[in-house]
Amino acid sequence: MATRADAFFTGGCVFAYGAAQPAMLPLPHLPEFVFIGRSNAGKSSLLNALTGQSRLAHVSSTPGRTQQLNFFRLQDRCYLVDVPGYGYAKAPKNKVAGWQGTLKHYLRTRTVLKRCFVLIDARHGIIGTDETMLEELDRAAQLYQIVLTKSDAIAAADLPALLVQTGVQLKRHPAAFEDILVTSSQTGQGISALRSVLFGLLKN
Ligand code: GDP
Repeated sequence: MATRADAFFTGGCVFAYGAAQPAMLPLPHLPEFVFIGRSNAGKSSLLNALTGQSRLAHVSSTPGRTQQLNFFRLQDRCYLVDVPGYGYAKAPKNKVAGWQGTLKHYLRTRTVLKRCFVLIDARHGIIGTDETMLEELDRAAQLYQIVLTKSDAIAAADLPALLVQTGVQLKRHPAAFEDILVTSSQTGQGISALRSVLFGLLKN
């Protein structure tokens, strides 16, 4: 059954701003949630599933928008912030340094940031490049929650071990939440649960 959170998330989301440099960041005026993940972790698919808009996050991959933080406004109540995927070997190094500097600044200064969601491909779990990002989030003292993506792509029997292993890895990270969300944009698993988490945070 559709919940209030489901109705809220599917009620309209639009691209609002892009920021390639700190000076381009919009003035903070609504709560924000940021989505971070390795290239190919399933971030675009998850943002699309979350908002029920099949082409929303493709906006982030249009030329000129792939190397910046993209802000999507959800019903004038909050922003979903899409960060370029990290770990893509072919991305131009100077551009990567540019948006990563912006992200670092954003994470360290953004007072309206409610929570970071770090997307981890369930087929791989947390690997080296993810660790680097988690360390950056720890340094920025920004609370973050892990969202395992593509849960449909692993055997259900392998999930408990993955959750245990991920939990052990997170113990080394002071800014990480213990609760891990399990999602699949393909089957819809966990999408309502993720909406409920964000919706709940908006009320606080
Ligand atoms: P991004 O680079 O993080 O934005 O990742 P995309 O959303 O573009 O997805 C990368 C690849 O993973 C694509 O081939 C998607 O079809 C696939 N993918 C994304 N989400 C899922 C999922 O929930 N299940 C499965 N099996 N594949 C997925």
